[in-house]
Amino acid sequence: MESIVGNLFLKPGRDKSIVRHHPWIFSGAIKRFEGDLQPGDLVAVRAAGGEYLATAYVNKRSQIQARIVTWDANDVIDDAFWRERLVRALAWREQLQLSAETNAVRLVNAEADGLPGLVVDKYGDYLVMQCLTAGIDSRKQMLAALLVELLQPTAVIDRSDAPVRKKEGLPLTTDVLYGVAIPDEVVITENGLKFAVDLLNGHKTGFYLDQRDNRTVACARRYVADGDVLNVFAYTGGFGVYAAVNGARSVVHVDSSAESIALAQANMRRNGYHRRQDEYVVADAFQLLRDYRDSGRQFDTIILDPPKFAHSQRDVNRATRGYKDLNWLAFRLLRPGGILATFSCSGLVSADLFQKVVFGAVIDAGRDAQIVQTMTQSADHPVLLSFPESAYLKGLLCRVW
Ligand code: SAH
Repeated sequence: MESIVGNLFLKPGRDKSIVRHHPWIFSGAIKRFEGDLQPGDLVAVRAAGGEYLATAYVNKRSQIQARIVTWDANDVIDDAFWRERLVRALAWREQLQLSAETNAVRLVNAEADGLPGLVVDKYGDYLVMQCLTAGIDSRKQMLAALLVELLQPTAVIDRSDAPVRKKEGLPLTTDVLYGVAIPDEVVITENGLKFAVDLLNGHKTGFYLDQRDNRTVACARRYVADGDVLNVFAYTGGFGVYAAVNGARSVVHVDSSAESIALAQANMRRNGYHRRQDEYVVADAFQLLRDYRDSGRQFDTIILDPPKFAHSQRDVNRATRGYKDLNWLAFRLLRPGGILATFSCSGLVSADLFQKVVFGAVIDAGRDAQIVQTMTQSADHPVLLSFPESAYLKGLLCRVW
C-alpha cells in the first residue's frame, strides 16, 4: 500500500482553487514541503494553518508541483483506489455505447477522469497509454497490470514520448508494457470506415479520437455532397475520407508531412477511393493556401484542423495570428454558400478568443459568415467543470457568403 509521505503547505489565502476542486498546484501557491519527497510521492495538501485539503502526488521539477488525486481524507491511495478510478472511467465509456460506432475509444482522459496525467486509448484489442507526469510514470506498471486485468487487451503500449514530459523532467520513451509483436499498423473501424493506425509511431497515441464526432458533423452529406473539399492538416485523411463517402466531388488533402499524406492516401484507398480527381499535396498550408488564392482556386468546403499552436501563455499572441491568417485565407477560397469547419486544439486559446479570431478573419477577407454549429471534443474526452483546461478542442462550422 502506498502512503502519504509528507506534507505540502500552501501560502496563506492560496487554498481557494483547491477547495474548488482544481487539481493543479503551482509552485507560486506553495509555502513549503515537509518530508523527503521523490517525484510521484504522495503528500497531504494543507492550508497555511495546517488543515487537510486534499491528497496529491508531487514533482518539484515541474511548474505544476502537485496534482490532486482526492479531496477525501479517508481515501487510502492503494491499488484498489487506482482500480476504482479506472473502473469509473471505463463505466462511462460503456454507457456511451460507442462500440456500435467505433472500436477506437479514449478510455481515460487524465484529470477529467480523476486520473491526472494518465491517458489511455483503445484501438481494437490494443491499449495505448500516455504517462504524462512523474506521478503516473512511477505507477505505470501497476496501472498497466490493472488495465490488463480489467480489459484483457492483446497488448499495452506506453507512448510516453509526448514532449510535455520534458516539463516533468521525464525522458521520452515508447515501450511495450504488456504483450508482444505489435503490428506496424492496426486497422480500426470508425462509423464503418477503415483507418490504419501506427500505435508505436503515430501522433499522440496514433489517431485523433477527439475529432470523431466532428468528422461526422462537418463532413455530413448535406455539407459536402457534390462539392470540392479541401482537407487542410490532413494527417490520416480522416475528414477527407468522410467527405468522399458522403459524396464530395473531389477531396484535396494537404499536410506538410509526406508520411501523413501517404497515410491519408492509403486510408482513402482502403475505403475504396482511388479517384483521379482527389489530390494529395505535401506542402506548408500557409503557403499553399496563398498559392490557391493567387491562382483563383475555389472550394465548397474547407476543413482547417491545425496542430496545437499555443504551448504556453507566451505563444498565445503568435498562435492567434496563425489562426487568423489561416482562416482569412480559407474564407477567401470558399465559393458563396461554402462551408468552413475550423478548429483549434490549443487549450490556452479559449472558445471565445477563437471565435473572435475567426470573426476578425472573415471581416478582413471581406466576407460574411454564419456559425451554423459549434463543435467540441467527443464525449469520451469529457471536460471536468472544475478544470476548464480539459476543454481544449473547439470548432466552428461556418457558412460563408
Ligand atoms: N485532421 C487530422 C489531424 C491533424 S493533426 C485528423 O483528423 O486526424 C495536424 C497535422 O498538421 C499533422 O499531420 C502535421 O503534419 C500537419 N502540419 C503541421 N504544420 C503544418 C503546416 N504548416 N502545413 C501543413 N501541415 C502541417
